[in-house]
Amino acid sequence: MKRDIASLDQTFDLLVIGGGIYGAWTAYDAALRGLRVALVEKSDWASGTSSASTKLIHGGLRYLEHRDFNLVRVSLDERRRLSELGPHRVRPLRFVLPVYKGARVGPVRLGLGLWLYDLLSGRNQPVPRHSSLSRARVAEELPFLRRDGLRQAFTYGDCQTDDARFTLEIVDGACRAGVVAINHAEVREILTTRERASGAAVRDRLGADTIDVQASVIVNTAGPWAPNLGQEHCTDLRLVKGAHLVMPTLHTSDAVLLMTPDEQRVFFMIPWYGRTLVGTTDTDFSGNPDNVSVTETDVEYLLDSANKFLEVPCWSDQDICGRFAGIRALQNENERAPSDVTREWKLVHSSNGVLTSTGGKLTSARRDASFIVDRVMAVLGKHSSERPTESEPFPWAPRNFEAWFAESIKRGVSLGMDEELATNLSLRYGKEVTTVHEIVEGDRSLADRIVSSLAFCKAEWVRGARDEMTMTLSDLTTRRVPLSVLTPLSRQILEEAADLVGNILGWDEERRRAEVGTVLRPRS
Ligand SMILES: Cc1cc2nc3c(=O)[nH]c(=O)nc-3n(C[C@H](O)[C@H](O)[C@H](O)COP(=O)(O)OP(=O)(O)OC[C@H]3O[C@@H](n4cnc5c(N)ncnc54)[C@H](O)[C@@H]3O)c2cc1C
Repeated sequence: MKRDIASLDQTFDLLVIGGGIYGAWTAYDAALRGLRVALVEKSDWASGTSSASTKLIHGGLRYLEHRDFNLVRVSLDERRRLSELGPHRVRPLRFVLPVYKGARVGPVRLGLGLWLYDLLSGRNQPVPRHSSLSRARVAEELPFLRRDGLRQAFTYGDCQTDDARFTLEIVDGACRAGVVAINHAEVREILTTRERASGAAVRDRLGADTIDVQASVIVNTAGPWAPNLGQEHCTDLRLVKGAHLVMPTLHTSDAVLLMTPDEQRVFFMIPWYGRTLVGTTDTDFSGNPDNVSVTETDVEYLLDSANKFLEVPCWSDQDICGRFAGIRALQNENERAPSDVTREWKLVHSSNGVLTSTGGKLTSARRDASFIVDRVMAVLGKHSSERPTESEPFPWAPRNFEAWFAESIKRGVSLGMDEELATNLSLRYGKEVTTVHEIVEGDRSLADRIVSSLAFCKAEWVRGARDEMTMTLSDLTTRRVPLSVLTPLSRQILEEAADLVGNILGWDEERRRAEVGTVLRPRS
């Protein structure tokens, strides 16, 4: 992945604005159908909502309560497809759903809901169907859960991913398919010719230039920023914030789904890279999406919710390892509570021709993007009967996954990595893991973990800077290797990272210091 801003200076069939998961899939799909495509992202790939999700590829059990059956069925179908096309990226995860005395939803209704979830899943799913666990088994398998009032539990399957890496992999696929993809490039204005959108003024945020990009069709996948591009209908979005806390490990590979203390909402405790994600909140958001943050009220709410279900020890704010918040740009249903607003996706066609994507999910983005490209092809008057991403393996998907996986772990271990690290690398990089192995072959010390409790190594920094369009230290430590999401990073670690990647990216001393300062600046 190489950033070459000058290559924007040409006429494209399609300009995609926003490099979250919707923009990535749209650009990739369009390029596979033979279009000349540009994709621009004002910050970094997946720096918006697409790195702040709960990281589930799921049908959304809770949407059954809202009778969003179509959304659940379609999402479950996508869960199956994505785990087939990208088995390294979309991994099965067992959920435990404990039932406590006096709960609003009792075991009979829960059992029925799970039966329906299985039914809507259809065949060939990557996860087993639901089953039940006795109180004693729950106590044995999940000893951290409160036993007082516990009646039994259910288990069911869904899938998990790394949302930022997922997006990056699709952007890489897009680049390989010929897309001109530029991060840190912001659309400042849609250009029009005879009242039809004909391009956009794109500012290079790493330089000073503004380039007028010409395109026959423009797709706005700017998520919660979509209304800033001035399209009619977009102002009618409902912005809903969701916050997560990153907490210490609970020493389980299971996720837990629980009801909040007021019994109105569900929340999750999910293992992720050796930590536990606790989330999410659902609150209306007004203001600039650039400034979204986890507030003290969010922290209190999430810790209270989790602690209600923990046996020992209870968590305090001293235990928080990290935090992040994102914004859903949903269809406006003012009469509903934020958590009840539909997650259905919609494409809005403005009178100047711009197509704007609203709502949706990480899980269904591939499918929704294929509808966007269908529409783009129709506008361009081009014939297209196929949707290539329906059957195209993920860009980094290895062939014969199980055999490859075992071999890849063995190779990592033979290079001096511990098994957890070798496993993580295989899943994070897919078949591209050979590039990380090669880096380690050149310098064995790069197999060292960066932080001893987390399975990431220094060779990943090198790969990030060399091959993954890393432009800032924050790109590297937040999304290429999500360490600063999982733990506060010391100045010493950041300086080491800045030196390692600075040598590759040609940063002078002043730039290195500035990059470290930016990451160290206190964040919410
Ligand atoms: C708390 C939370 C939890 C979630 N959990 C899940 C989950 O577990 N599973 C699931 O399936 N879905 C989940 N979702 C939904 C999912 O994350 C979103 O649907 C998805 O990430 C939206 O992607 P997007 O590409 O539309 O938006 P974004 O990821 O926000 O991308 C928009 C991009 O546009 C860029 N941009 C904005 N303006 C400009 C401009 N002028 N020029 C250039 N670029 C611009 C932004 O920088 C941003 O990167 C969750 C959402 C939230 C908020």
